[in-house]
Parts: sequence; C-alpha cells; structure tokens
Amino acid sequence: MNPDLEKLIALQEADREIERLNQEIAQLPRRVAAIEAQLADTRAQVEKAKAAIAAAQKDRKKLESEIQDHQQKISKYRDQSLAVKTNEQYKALLQEITFAEQAIRACEDKILDGMLAIETQEKNQKAAEAELKQETAEIEKEKAEARARTEQDQKQLAEWSARRSALRAEITADVVAYYDRVLKLRKSGISAVGEDGKCASCNVMLRPQTFNEVRVNDRVIACDSCGRILYYVPPPEPETAPGQAPADSSQPAADVS
Ligand SMILES: [Zn+2]
Repeated sequence: MNPDLEKLIALQEADREIERLNQEIAQLPRRVAAIEAQLADTRAQVEKAKAAIAAAQKDRKKLESEIQDHQQKISKYRDQSLAVKTNEQYKALLQEITFAEQAIRACEDKILDGMLAIETQEKNQKAAEAELKQETAEIEKEKAEARARTEQDQKQLAEWSARRSALRAEITADVVAYYDRVLKLRKSGISAVGEDGKCASCNVMLRPQTFNEVRVNDRVIACDSCGRILYYVPPPEPETAPGQAPADSSQPAADVS
C-alpha cells in the first residue's frame, strides 16, 4: 500500500480518537452536574417537608392558645351565671358557653388533622433524607469515577496527539494539507471503498477506471463526488481455519493484485 495512504488511515483513526476523547472529557462534568441537580432537588424535598412540619406545629400552638381563650371565657361565663338576675341573662350565658365549647371542638378537630399532616410530612422527610444520603454517596462515587476517567482520557489524548503529530510529519505535505481541507469540510478526510465500488462515505459509485486504480491502493486518489481520499478495503476472507485469528476487515492487509 502507498505509505501516505497507510498513514492517512492511521491519521484518521487518531483524529477520531482525539475527537471522541475530547467529547468524553467535556461530557463528564455535565454528568456530574446533572447528578448534583438531582441532589438539589432531593434537598429541596427535605426542606419542603421540614417547612410543612414547622407550619403545622405553629398552627397547633395557635389552636391550643385559642382553646385556652375559649376555656377562660367559659369559666368567666360560669362565674357570671352565678350572679345573674334574670332567666334570660342566664340563657344567654349558657348559649355563649355552648358556642365556646363548639369552638373548642372545632379547634381540637383541626389539631388532629394537623397531627396527621405532620405524620405524613415526617414520613416524607425521612424518605427524602434517606434518598439524599444514598444520592450523596452515589455522587461521590460518580465524581471519583469521573476524575479517574478524565485522567485516563487525558493520558490517552496525549498519546493520540503525539501519534497524530508523528503521522502528519511523515505524510507528504500536500497530501496532509488536502486531507485537512476535506476533513474540515466533510468531517472526515478519507473514505473506504468496498467490493461494490462505492465510496463508503458519500455512497456514490466510482467510475470503473477510478475503481481499478483505487483497488491497487498504490496512489492517493480522491473521490470525484465528495473529495475524500479513497482506499480500497478487500472483502473479509472466508472462514479461517481453527486456531487462526480472523482477518481484520478494517485494515487492508495487502495490495490486491
Ligand atoms: Zn465520496
């Protein structure tokens, strides 16, 4: 195979790996941020339950003090009833006592409802706190994993970048400049051609003469349609004998003559 072609294939691999690693490195903090947002959500649930409990407790205190007021009124009415002169005054005081007793019962019902609400909110709070604990442990684990992954990716990125620079230095300058132009335009600079005689990237059939030339893999030839540099990939070899490694179809092993 033409040495430029061979190195271009390796260069494309390096370019793709570098892009993939850069994307992965950029995505890891986003993943951590998404989990942190979830954490904030659960924290808000805990706060909401706490606030609801506090409000219900405050209501209860208010109701208890209302009951006390009514009870004081009742004893005051009872005292007054001992001193009344007319039956009518007496009836009016009894009526007041009945009203106050009704008001006390209404307050007591509200207190019971409030206690049930507090019970529910306490359950909510406990559940959210358990979730928060679990999520906090998870996020610490995810963060540690993300850090380790990023470090590993950056190491690989440095290796691929070094390999990329070395390859670019070895490829004929005009060819690498052409590759760069097509890469910028089409997101890839070279394309495989299979047995069907089509450019695998733009899917356009090569002219028979071009296909014959590409099959030899000894020259740098561009696709008439998309401009990518073409290289021929022979079809995978039929069933290999047991014990032998299967043929790697992604890397043309030798020129087909
Ligand atoms: Zn093409």
